Amino acid sequence: MSKVRIYTLAKDLGVENAKMLELLDGLGVSYKSVSSTIEEETVELIKEMLAEEAAQEGGAAAPQTAATQAATPDAEQDAPTGTPAAAPAQADVSEVPHRAPVVTIMGHVDHGKTSLLDYIRKTKVAAKEAGGITQHVGAFEAQTSKGKIVFIDTPGHEAFTTIRARGANVADIAIIVIAADDSLMPQTREAIAHAQAANVPMLIAINKVDLPQADPDRVKTDLTQLNLVPEEYGGDLVVVPVSAKTGEGVEDLLEYISLTAELEDLRADPKGTFGGVIIEGKVDKQAGVLATVMVQEGTLHVSDFLVVGESYGKIKAMTDSNGNRIKEAGPSTPVQVLGFSEVPSSGEKVQSARNEHAAREIVAQRADERRDAENARVQRRLTLEEMMGP
Ligand code: GDP
Ligand code: MG
Repeated sequence: MSKVRIYTLAKDLGVENAKMLELLDGLGVSYKSVSSTIEEETVELIKEMLAEEAAQEGGAAAPQTAATQAATPDAEQDAPTGTPAAAPAQADVSEVPHRAPVVTIMGHVDHGKTSLLDYIRKTKVAAKEAGGITQHVGAFEAQTSKGKIVFIDTPGHEAFTTIRARGANVADIAIIVIAADDSLMPQTREAIAHAQAANVPMLIAINKVDLPQADPDRVKTDLTQLNLVPEEYGGDLVVVPVSAKTGEGVEDLLEYISLTAELEDLRADPKGTFGGVIIEGKVDKQAGVLATVMVQEGTLHVSDFLVVGESYGKIKAMTDSNGNRIKEAGPSTPVQVLGFSEVPSSGEKVQSARNEHAAREIVAQRADERRDAENARVQRRLTLEEMMGP
């Protein structure tokens, strides 16, 4: 074993991937991503650095073992567990907690986006749905082996683009699904362009590898033409072959999602001020106006007042993406909310207000601001016309 992957080493040493990359940067070692491999010598240097850090910060007791052990160049590979060398007791109590990643799935029609989501969803949350109520929400949360991951289904990428057009970014990670028997198609390029424009990390899932005519290598070569170079060709693009039909590779994809999320260091305070975005809104004949809200910051409670644009409403009921009635929802939770007075549009920002009075005030202020802006625009036009003369 001469070379080791960065994330494997991080796991073995009990430190976060981000920390590992920091150390590598410090050493001037170049890498493409956390799945890049590093040399044995670098591994030893890393261990020494961690040991030194532990010795400095921790001072006494525990880190000493780690220090002596890791500082020895010939240290045993299998250091006893319980030596997370780089985890000196941190007093960072005020740190904002981590939140689950929000992942959007994009790609050409029929390349298997929905099937892939179905597979992830079925295997992990099927039992709950047996009850029969499968609601269509544009987003759902999945409990995976890697913890909670929130997925957004974007037919035709509309949700993604309209949400972005309104200046909101809901997705932390984009997965571009490309069918192995079809390779890059117009909507694939479009999806890639969207992910790049939004500046979100992108993972490629080459789907349908179960098909006899599947040609994953061709997909990788085609990607290279777009200057997207897969890791195995020396680039930094993560490409995962999967089959939504057999489930092959899906676990790897989830692993890469969680690694990427860890690097992004996603955090949000459930106790902070509520902030969210509308994923989609619609009218239900029986229930009334329904909207899917992605909670981004803070916590939403039944009976809270919500303001969207120039309208407000009081939450009468909330359901999670499995159709369960819930009373509150924290960061990175998509919820279906009943109680808006008007149908909100995708991408609109949602704010909460303490009470009805406060909600009305926010709405009134927004209406004022809009009118002022409109008047200013009219005024500018009039002035321009004057300047142009009679
Ligand atoms: P979407 O338009 O991207 O959401 O694609 P769908 O999920 O609707 O899939 C389009 C078609 O491809 C359907 O007939 C699926 O059954 C099929 N399909 C999707 N994933 C796979 C796969 O991994 N293997 C095979 N053999 N067929 C697949
Ligand atoms: Mg679909």
